[in-house]
Amino acid sequence: MDRIIYVDNNATTAVAPEVFEEMKPYFTELYGNPSSMYRFGGELGKDIEIARNKVADLIGSTYRDKDNKSSEILFTSCGTESDNAAILSALQLNPEKRKIVISEVEHPAILSLCKDIQRKGYIIELIPVDKKGKINLADVEKAVDANTAIVSVMWANNEIGNIYPVNEIAKIAHKNGALFHTDAVQAVGKVPINMDENEIDLLSLSGHKLHAPKGIGALYIRRGTRFRPFIIGGHQESSRRAGTENLAGIVALGKACELAKENIENENIVVKKLRNSLEIKIAEQISDIRINGDFENRLPNTASISFEYIEGEAILMLLDQFNICASSGSACTTGSLEPSHVLRAMGLPYTAAHGTIRFSFSRYNTQADVDFIVEKLPPVIEKLREYSPFWQDKDKK
Ligand code: PLP
Repeated sequence: MDRIIYVDNNATTAVAPEVFEEMKPYFTELYGNPSSMYRFGGELGKDIEIARNKVADLIGSTYRDKDNKSSEILFTSCGTESDNAAILSALQLNPEKRKIVISEVEHPAILSLCKDIQRKGYIIELIPVDKKGKINLADVEKAVDANTAIVSVMWANNEIGNIYPVNEIAKIAHKNGALFHTDAVQAVGKVPINMDENEIDLLSLSGHKLHAPKGIGALYIRRGTRFRPFIIGGHQESSRRAGTENLAGIVALGKACELAKENIENENIVVKKLRNSLEIKIAEQISDIRINGDFENRLPNTASISFEYIEGEAILMLLDQFNICASSGSACTTGSLEPSHVLRAMGLPYTAAHGTIRFSFSRYNTQADVDFIVEKLPPVIEKLREYSPFWQDKDKK
């Protein structure tokens, strides 16, 4: 295949070669079931615990039980499962509380779940965001009350990269007797996380966003936090998540977390430089653009850029001809013609929200990728604007 310029790392990432090597034996010679009595299967349980500790290490959860196991990490199948498990557990354990507080810019793994829960009679209170996508803590104070079972606000937003004051929000939740969950699927491996130094109860993460494969995730459950299983069956994961373990995925996630921990600082410097270079060069060469998000507090790898008066999907199709892979809004909303709920919540005009592209970098991108995008993008935008009635009418007011 021709060279691919992959700048859609918030959608998914390449499996790191080191991770792939580590997981391979579990598809071939190490195929036993960790629940088996014989050593060929049973001994693989040790590999699960090694991986669990590596996940805990990346997010600064240092508690280990008498067998040196991190009991705060539960393996799941993905970020969506972790999000669903956290919210539904809180509701089941606190049946008298009928309210959930979330932000307007949550991923569909939280938002759509909450819409479904609302149909069952719960109150869903949405915390608004401002023009930069920021949350005002006073709005959180207003929304949370004694009827709130759980507050869930993402650590970092997948579309614009904003980082939210999750520990401050956790404190507000706790003051009101509510649990606090954060969807940290976009944050883990990209920003330092120290669970020993915050009061977050539950945190979701997903392997395929940090160079592990798809189909593996985890939920951090702070020691002492009650938890009701989401998937019920056998006794795996200390009876907190039934189903034969995805051993290869678990080992892969452990390795990916180990690599992320070793490289996070350097990697952040590299991806930030690439992201900033892209934003600066695009701003120099293309008029009528907006760069979205909170510049003081956003993921180092993410750029959300609106090219006014044209359609993001059309931009993506033309970029695809050059093997440039980016996305409009979040991958999960691609396919719908509605602009993303995040950009709408920020109050972006339709003419800008429709033409928004997200570029997200990883450790495998280079300056040559940025230069290639900056070479191909301006003529694409110019061509689309030539055909755009909105562009032609923009100065006629
Ligand atoms: N939460 C956020 C913020 C995400 O960006 C995503 C994936 O895009 C998810 C949850 C869902 O994760 P998964 O694909 O592992 O289910």
